[in-house]
Amino acid sequence: MPRVFHVMSKPTKAICNLDCEYCFFLSKEALYPGSEFRMPPDVHEAYVRQLLAAQRGADEVVVAFQGGEPTLMGIDFFARTLELEAKHAVPGQRILNTVQTNATLIDDEWAAFLGEHGFLVGVSIDGPRELHDRYRVDKGGKPTYDRVIAGLDALKRHGVEWNALVTLNAANGDHGREVYAFLRDELGATFLQLIPIVEHMEGALASDRSISGAQYGRFLIDVFEEWARHDVGDVFVTMFDTSLAHWLGMDQAGSCVHARTCGDAVALEHNGDLYSCDHYVDPDYLLGNITEGRTLLQLVDSPQQRAFGQAKADSLPSYCRSCDVRFACNGGCPKDRFLTTPDGEPGLHYLCDGYQMFFRHVDEPMRVMTELLRRGADATGLREWYAAADARRAGNDPCSCASGRGWGQCHGRLIHGAGLSHMGNG
Ligand code: SF4
Ligand code: SF4
Repeated sequence: MPRVFHVMSKPTKAICNLDCEYCFFLSKEALYPGSEFRMPPDVHEAYVRQLLAAQRGADEVVVAFQGGEPTLMGIDFFARTLELEAKHAVPGQRILNTVQTNATLIDDEWAAFLGEHGFLVGVSIDGPRELHDRYRVDKGGKPTYDRVIAGLDALKRHGVEWNALVTLNAANGDHGREVYAFLRDELGATFLQLIPIVEHMEGALASDRSISGAQYGRFLIDVFEEWARHDVGDVFVTMFDTSLAHWLGMDQAGSCVHARTCGDAVALEHNGDLYSCDHYVDPDYLLGNITEGRTLLQLVDSPQQRAFGQAKADSLPSYCRSCDVRFACNGGCPKDRFLTTPDGEPGLHYLCDGYQMFFRHVDEPMRVMTELLRRGADATGLREWYAAADARRAGNDPCSCASGRGWGQCHGRLIHGAGLSHMGNG
């Protein structure tokens, strides 16, 4: 079996042209004082060569670039990546190049290059203008929405495959329906990653910018209720795919956050230093440098990294172990387990109440999709299941989205009345 793992490489380290208020990368510049924060040619080649060698035999190798802002490296860096891949790929090896970007530097030249070479581009956008611009500002504190949309338009003009990465924070956290409708209807997004912002301050406290557990659960439910009725099979939301995998019994599939163990997603710094995870770029979690003897594969398979991944399961508090949705949640990312359980044990995830809300809410539809798939049918059958259930609801019945409102004042009104895109979360 080929060894498949994910490397998040950061050729500019934390350097970015923006100054998003919640960005945890910016504070990491201090780890490398005096550095130019540009991946040098020897590290660049070692990364591509070692990754392709490690994953020979895999269906597809993902070569990923993230930041900071990776487009600051310039097109030449990515053209060189393609040359290195041509030099080091084994015959028949399929390679997918991905870039996560704020899109503000993407112009027609960039988009033409990315389109011509089949890059998959992740675009960071937090919703419509007023929600996006709340935290995603440039170094001068200026809004960035128009520049992001201009970059995205360039990508679309050149037929570049893209997906949306949406951070969920205190500002957009109450606007699940509005954000989802905007992404789907106005931007045409068909693949969404929803990433909650959790900034740990001290003790059990998170920053004012962080989304709360209740907001996160509500956001996911609001999006799910719309997605399940209209978009299953057309729009892909990573959290929903991950959840379905868990209901199907695949507890390591999908996002690492809800996998039983982790450790297969390492972070590569500009200078070749490899860390256990992008959220643990810290001297205690440094595995080694890929140019100094041990290869990427040796470092990923090292006892230190295996212990890191296993600790995710081993450190679960007993409250989680006996939780009815543990199979889907697995306690979330250890980085954010800074609450105390009701019986006083440390290590409960900050978003626990949101996780419980969401996973319990989707239990029945997930079972429906699981059953459809087990019968060899299509999961899109969930739409019909919702339509049949909706037809039986009376106006005063509680709405299926658990908003606390009646069906006729909530989703029933949406379905039989005005279009979703005209609705707030109200
Ligand atoms: S520490 Fe968190 S983000 Fe990192 S691999 Fe584990 S679950 Fe994923
Ligand atoms: S929902 Fe809460 S209690 Fe249950 S496994 Fe997740 S974090 Fe633990």
